[in-house]
Amino acid sequence: MTENCSHDCGSCQQDCASRDLHEPLHNLSRVGKVYGVVSGKGGVGKSLVTSLLAVQLQKQGVQAAILDADITGPSIPKMFGAKGKITGTEDSGFFPVTSRSGIEMVSTNFLLDHDTDPVVWRGPIIAGTVKQFWGSMLWDDIDVMLVDMPPGTGDVPLTVFQSLPLDGVIIVTSPQDLVSMIVTKAVRMAELMHVPIVGLIENMAYFRCPNCGSEHAIFGKSHIEQVAAEHGLKVLARLPIDPALTALCDAGKIEDYDGQLLADVANDLK
Ligand code: ADP
Repeated sequence: MTENCSHDCGSCQQDCASRDLHEPLHNLSRVGKVYGVVSGKGGVGKSLVTSLLAVQLQKQGVQAAILDADITGPSIPKMFGAKGKITGTEDSGFFPVTSRSGIEMVSTNFLLDHDTDPVVWRGPIIAGTVKQFWGSMLWDDIDVMLVDMPPGTGDVPLTVFQSLPLDGVIIVTSPQDLVSMIVTKAVRMAELMHVPIVGLIENMAYFRCPNCGSEHAIFGKSHIEQVAAEHGLKVLARLPIDPALTALCDAGKIEDYDGQLLADVANDLK
């Protein structure tokens, strides 16, 4: 503890021993490893990467869970075609929704009457929801939990970084000019919060022609290796634009994906 400590850890940057803002888990829950999936901007495929990693983990015999911390823009339930509702009580705890292959999930869409209802909540309510998704749920023997973060470095990512015991973050990006600046912001935030970075995943990196097999850089030339080297990070994977993936997401059938994309990355998260 530093001299003149105000005990307001939320706004303090000091790396001090008494600093622990982690929310406790429910006493009946067990969660092994926890990884945040982050991106500097929206629409780069962060939720798809989260879903694919969970699907691969579950296939590898690892009990996976997804905490959808994208409170106002949840897309995880849609990708899994999951329409369940969170049940339980404040006293006994709440049950997550289980996907067809057994992945446990929590998302604001499981609280709404209609999945088209907008979530128009103030910041503190949103932050409180994220904490409850972690601490009030009955997480049944989870080996690896993936936290789908909202894009950017705002209030909710800050809440997740501070309140959940993250083992690491995976940064998802797509090829474009802004990538260096966007990735640098995400890297700096993780460093500031003392959370290790597992590595970078470049999504929509290329399109492979189904006829001739040639690769096309639809969104421009990739700079991912250069950006990774600048920050001393690993490129975990480069994912192609694959219309089959779009179709599976749209149909809510991401668990039917039978390819090997991200299988190695998932293996390293165990
Ligand atoms: P984010 O979470 O970063 O906002 P999503 O994961 O929701 O982005 O992806 C947005 C949409 O783009 C999804 O509906 C998904 O179907 C599509 N998509 C993302 N990555 C790919 C890909 N590599 N190939 C095909 N479609 C993709």
